[in-house]
Amino acid sequence: MKIDLTGRVALVTGGGRGIGRAIAMALSGAGAATVINYRGNSAAAEETVAAITAAGGIAQAIQADVSQAADVERLVKATLDAHGRVDVLVNNAGITRDTLLLRMKEDDFDQVISTNLRGVFLCTKAVFRPMSKQRGGRIINISSVIGLIGNAGQANYAAAKAGIIGFTKSTAREMAPRSITVNAIAPGFIETEMTDVLGEETRKAILETIPLGRLGRPDEVAALACFLASDAAAYITGQTFTIDGGMVMS
Ligand code: NAD
Repeated sequence: MKIDLTGRVALVTGGGRGIGRAIAMALSGAGAATVINYRGNSAAAEETVAAITAAGGIAQAIQADVSQAADVERLVKATLDAHGRVDVLVNNAGITRDTLLLRMKEDDFDQVISTNLRGVFLCTKAVFRPMSKQRGGRIINISSVIGLIGNAGQANYAAAKAGIIGFTKSTAREMAPRSITVNAIAPGFIETEMTDVLGEETRKAILETIPLGRLGRPDEVAALACFLASDAAAYITGQTFTIDGGMVMS
């Protein structure tokens, strides 16, 4: 199946590296003009833009902190000013502040909720009007298997990622009359800078829980995001798709 997103405009938050970069590359590879949002690392975002441009795609990088309403409004306005529309929003930006509950500071909790959940709320709200006017759109929220099964040391992250799943279902219902679909992807452990910090012992223990016996690759998550952004996925909304080498089976 060939996915064709020619003429579409995609906005990927936290698209400078890791899973976000892979998604931006896949969407632009399918023909979408892509806006790569980044918070602080302009060099990584420009590298992603350069890779897309070198492959013949259209991309630009825009700085914004997704947890800040004014930044998000500016981000969506800049996207609309540049392209006149926004067809696909990928809420990918995320952070971790892992520690056991007894040691978790309010700030560890607030920062994770702020970027990982409030950010999804702000970005989704900001694209709702333009997508409604277009009478169509695709919103893809990057959750995590941790939001489904929990993890010691990640109560803040698990709460945010589980929150995304509830948010996805509610907004899918609200937006369906405008032909806007909203789905979530819940990756397992994927090889990125976020998982590079895991120690050898933890990595070994994790591998034992994965039937396919390896961590996933960002491009594997990107392929699923690309499918959900395509016309082929028009009848799918409110769902959460795990992509985890079989780690969580329900
Ligand atoms: P990463 O740390 O490599 O990338 C996260 C990106 O988000 C970075 O580019 C970062 O700059 C950006 N970001 C962080 N805070 C931001 C903010 N306030 N505003 C804008 N951008 C911001 O991590 P990754 O592994 O590529 O993760 C991408 C997404 O996938 C995250 O939501 C993460 O929780 C989720 N996820 C990752 C894994 C994994 O194993 N790597 C598993 C499940 C879910």
